[in-house]
Amino acid sequence: MKRTIAFLLMAVMLVSLLTACGCKHEWAEATCTDPKTCTLCEETEGDSLGHSYLDATCEAPKTCRRCGKTKGDALEHEWAEATCEDPMTCTLCGATEGEALGHEWSESTCTEPAVCDVCGAEDGEPGEHTWLDATCEAPMTCEVCGATEGEPGDHVEGEAELADYDLVEATAVYDTPCTVCGEVISSETLTMPQLHSDGYFLLTPQDYVDRLYNIFTSETDLYCELYVNEDMDDVITCDMWSTVSDNMYFAYTYFYDGDYSLVEADSDKNMFFNEMWTILDCVSSDDVMDASTTLLAMILAIDPSLDVASATELVVELTANNAISYNGIDYTLEVYDEAEVELLFTAIVAG
Ligand SMILES: [Zn+2]
Ligand SMILES: [Zn+2]
Ligand SMILES: [Zn+2]
Ligand SMILES: [Zn+2]
Ligand SMILES: [Zn+2]
Ligand SMILES: [Zn+2]
Repeated sequence: MKRTIAFLLMAVMLVSLLTACGCKHEWAEATCTDPKTCTLCEETEGDSLGHSYLDATCEAPKTCRRCGKTKGDALEHEWAEATCEDPMTCTLCGATEGEALGHEWSESTCTEPAVCDVCGAEDGEPGEHTWLDATCEAPMTCEVCGATEGEPGDHVEGEAELADYDLVEATAVYDTPCTVCGEVISSETLTMPQLHSDGYFLLTPQDYVDRLYNIFTSETDLYCELYVNEDMDDVITCDMWSTVSDNMYFAYTYFYDGDYSLVEADSDKNMFFNEMWTILDCVSSDDVMDASTTLLAMILAIDPSLDVASATELVVELTANNAISYNGIDYTLEVYDEAEVELLFTAIVAG
């Protein structure tokens, strides 16, 4: 009996033991939706974990990192326009679509490398200037961009050209121009060696009168008035009168052209004459002195190469020989009218 009781006690104890434990739980870990759960008796412990969502992306909606459950929709891409270097790109996820546009390069210049007209990117190095040589007007200059370097160069000397002449003063101005810019680099005034050319005197009657007047004034003691007399029809007379010792003195000059026609005083066409006659009206012995002086002045007026000393020698020689040739001019001096005591002086361009 005691054993039976003991056995029963043990059985009861065992049953109560078993009842207290109930089940030997085998726990499954809690999930997003279920708490920790016994796989045998389904007893639970604690709470479910709840979903742990990752943010939605362009590709996927909000998604639970544990179970993959999604919520809502995926985002839309936010496209940024394609650029020279990048295709259309999502600012959120970096996804791309299409191609980059490519740069639109402008030509490089002397001073700038090639530049993209769209984005301003630069490529390579600036080009080289294309230099034109310096001239007298401009320094070395790039024909493309106009950049300059250094100083302008020298003028290029051309040939001297007759720029001006003065038949009264018997001077000629020769200008030496620059062949590039035309600027006159130098100017030279030369005494004309002669006042005749191609068989003609270059002087007009008025030039001769003006020149003779200058010479009378600068080289002689005579007071004189000279003028072209246009009163005597077509006959030009160059009336000179001078007073020395209250003595009046006259000389009449006639200009002839190549056909032995008298040159009209007021005609521009009669620029040339090749023969000059002067009648020296010597009334008294004082006039002879004045006539010599007038001869001297006339020879100086006709031939600018002479100085007073050489002209004086010519007058002496002419008086002695009645005919001389000098510097392309034939001079004669002869008695024109013995009764009136008139001398005829001629100057004729030789040839
Ligand atoms: Zn259990
Ligand atoms: Zn979940
Ligand atoms: Zn995106
Ligand atoms: Zn670009
Ligand atoms: Zn340049
Ligand atoms: Zn120049």
